[in-house]
Amino acid sequence: MEDKDGSGIDRASARPAACWQCGAPAIADCAYALRLVANPGWRLDPLGYRVNHGKDWDEVRVRVPRCHACRSRTQLSLLIVFGSSLASAIAWPALQSRFWPQLEAPTWVYESHEGGGTLMTAAGLLLGFVLSMLGIALHRRLSGRRSVASYPPVISLRQEGWHYPVYPAY
Ligand SMILES: [Zn+2]
Repeated sequence: MEDKDGSGIDRASARPAACWQCGAPAIADCAYALRLVANPGWRLDPLGYRVNHGKDWDEVRVRVPRCHACRSRTQLSLLIVFGSSLASAIAWPALQSRFWPQLEAPTWVYESHEGGGTLMTAAGLLLGFVLSMLGIALHRRLSGRRSVASYPPVISLRQEGWHYPVYPAY
């Protein structure tokens, strides 16, 4: 962790670094490329990172060193979030009509069409998504792994004004 000064120079590729999330030896191929963007007009300091000048946004990519296990865990997390959102979207409308039939969609939903089922499916999707995100965040906290968002260069860049992209740039 010698290069924690936030200079942003990616020296991790030159020698084996520690996985930011758990401390195990990092593997170059498993690094997490975190994108941060800024309006070119703001002329922010990229802190030594190479800036890709896009049409609308300047972009920097921070490579967060990770080990193989942490990469698979992230992929598994995504799968869990996706899977439980889907399962909840399917199960929630059925559960709702069975156990809480008095819970009806607000009348404005019915004004133009019978959108109650769709609304409940959307509610289920959201419920599953939120619950699985909470579960994963809790699990990460308990296992002592650090989030890629707390990687010091990421924090320094965000303090400069760089921010997470709100939409995919491509
Ligand atoms: Zn790790």
